[in-house]
Amino acid sequence: MSRSGIHHVTAIAGNARRNLDFYTRTLGLRLVKKTVNFDDPGAYHFYYGDEAGSPGTILTFFPWEHASPGRAGAGELQETVFRIPQSSLGYWATRLMAQGAERGTRFGETLLTFRDPDGLRLALVGLPGIEAEPAWSNGDVPVEHAIRGFHSVSLMLEKTEATGAILSDVFGFREMAREGDTIRYLAEGTAIGGIVDLRAVGGFLPARLGRGSVHHLAFRAADDAEEMEMARKLADHHGLRTTEQKNRDYFRSIYFREPGHVLFEIATDIPGFDVDEPAEALGTALKLPAFLERHRAEIEAALPALA
Ligand code: ZN
Repeated sequence: MSRSGIHHVTAIAGNARRNLDFYTRTLGLRLVKKTVNFDDPGAYHFYYGDEAGSPGTILTFFPWEHASPGRAGAGELQETVFRIPQSSLGYWATRLMAQGAERGTRFGETLLTFRDPDGLRLALVGLPGIEAEPAWSNGDVPVEHAIRGFHSVSLMLEKTEATGAILSDVFGFREMAREGDTIRYLAEGTAIGGIVDLRAVGGFLPARLGRGSVHHLAFRAADDAEEMEMARKLADHHGLRTTEQKNRDYFRSIYFREPGHVLFEIATDIPGFDVDEPAEALGTALKLPAFLERHRAEIEAALPALA
C-alpha cells in the first residue's frame, strides 16, 4: 500500500452550521473530528472524511463567520475533486442540481463540477470499478453512491515548472499527461488522493484568501523520519525552508510556501483520528488539545451554535 499523495485539504468557510450540514448531509461525508483551530481557538476546525478519516479522504474547514469572500486567481488550489462510482453520476447530478452541478470531461473522465455554500469549487469524478470499495454512510447518501476519498486537486499557478519539480522530487509524483494548459501528476500506486493537476495561467491576478477558498494543501509522510527527509530535500534541492514541526494531535506537520505561492503542508499518517476518542464515536464530542483543555468553558461559550 502506497503512502504518498494528498493527506488533506483545508479550506475557509463562513457559517459553521451551514458548512456542517452541507458536508455531512448533502455530501454524506463523516465528521471525523470536531475541534478548534489550534492557532485561533475562537473558531471551529471541522474534519470530514471516510469512516476512519484516512489520509487522502480528509477535507477540513476553518469556519470564520465574518470572513469575506475569497477571490479566485493564480497561486491557489482551485478545485478539489472526490471519487464516486461511475454508475452514481446520475444520482449526484440530481442531488447537486441546486449547487449548479455541471457535467464535463477532463483527461477522458466524466465529472460533475459544483460549488459549496461558500463558493468553494468542488467536483465528483465517476470512476469505473470502484463500487466495491468500502464506503461510509449515515443514511443521507446511500452507501452505494457514497464518496470514496479524493481523486485529485488542481492548482492554478502563474508558472508550473518549479512546483512540478517539487511534486516529482519530494512527494513521489510523476508527470502523467497533459491537456490544454494543465499538467497531470500522479503518485504511482496511490488510488486515493494520488493526482495533482497543475494549471498554468500566466497573467491572472493573484488569488485572495477568504471564504470559499483553500487555505492549504497537505501531502502525506508516513512518519516523522520521512517528513524530515522531505524537509531536507526541500532545503538541499529547492532552497526552501519549512516551519518547525507542529503537533496537530492527529498528525504532525511542517509547512512551506511553494514557488507558485500555494501553502503546502507535510502531515504524518500517524497517529490518526482515534487517538483521543473511539473510532465509532469520531466527531461526536468537541475535542481540544491538552494546552487548551483548561480553557474549555470559555472556548465552548464563544463558539457558534451548531444546532
Ligand atoms: Zn493542514
